[in-house]
Amino acid sequence: MNLDDALALLDGARAEAEAAVAAAADVDALDVVERKWLGKNSPATAVNEAIKTFSADDRPRAGQAVGAYRSAVGEAAGARREALTAAAAATRGPGIDLTLGGHARPRGHLHLVTQIRRELEDIFIGLGYRVAEGPEVEDDWHNFEALNIPPAHPARSMQDTIYVDLGAAEQMMLRTHTSPVQIRTMESQEPPIYVVAPGRTYRNETLDARHSPAFHQMECLAVDRGLTMADLFGTIEAFARRLFDDESVRTRFRSDFFPYTEPSAELAVSCVFCGGDGCRVCSHTGWIELGGCGMVDPQVLAGVGIDPEEWQGFAFGFGLERIAMIRYGINEIRTFFDNDVRFLEQY
Ligand SMILES: [Zn+2]
Repeated sequence: MNLDDALALLDGARAEAEAAVAAAADVDALDVVERKWLGKNSPATAVNEAIKTFSADDRPRAGQAVGAYRSAVGEAAGARREALTAAAAATRGPGIDLTLGGHARPRGHLHLVTQIRRELEDIFIGLGYRVAEGPEVEDDWHNFEALNIPPAHPARSMQDTIYVDLGAAEQMMLRTHTSPVQIRTMESQEPPIYVVAPGRTYRNETLDARHSPAFHQMECLAVDRGLTMADLFGTIEAFARRLFDDESVRTRFRSDFFPYTEPSAELAVSCVFCGGDGCRVCSHTGWIELGGCGMVDPQVLAGVGIDPEEWQGFAFGFGLERIAMIRYGINEIRTFFDNDVRFLEQY
């Protein structure tokens, strides 16, 4: 190869290389073109190799020609690369920002009282009980008389309710407790009986932080041969320990009065928040009152046709809102019925 051959080779190669660069459809194709026309097998390399055989006068011209070829092809490839990259970005459009939040539909869940009710039902089913239900609109017999509360009894004034005129001869009312379900169960079923009765109950109360005209109770009734208060205490203790998931929970019973149980007791458990030392939840007494309990009055058993000489019964009951208030430190019973989602969605 002499100088003229070298210059001719570079001229032709340059024209070809520039055409190939312009024809490269994407960055990958451009990479191939660059390797071919600027790489170690390119015409520029071949001329460079030949330069040492040229005369001293020709060498500088050949070197300049190689430099001019390299920069011309290199610049063309650089410009083409920029154009291809910009076009690819434009094709992708404005883009999708995957970090933006979506439009999730708010999803509801069970009301706190329903959650507590189901949890308690599970505990009692685990203890061998069955869930019983009854009407919320009751007659006088099931709500009062069968429970040892005759018309003139003072307990009626403690359980004033809302009366309902259904046009029937008998005065109907919204039940003041779930105890009528116990009567209905004993009327319709032979002992032994082991049931829990959860449900909505009503009183003629003014709505305030601690009282509500509508609330929820759960009552437990057992009727069997040879039942004693020891069975009642043991059942309540087993229930309380599962409710608070704490085997160290202790129970306390203090004498009380209910028309339908004899003897009767108020039922309290040791405070699970302070272990009995005293705190805000237990009003610094170390004990939390849960409800009432007792042995079913023999007269109640006889009233529904169960022989009290053969069968004994125990019963206990408590408010579902009260359980929720204790467990979650809720101060106002009203919040259960306000239907304020900001409150409800916390549980
Ligand atoms: Zn406490």
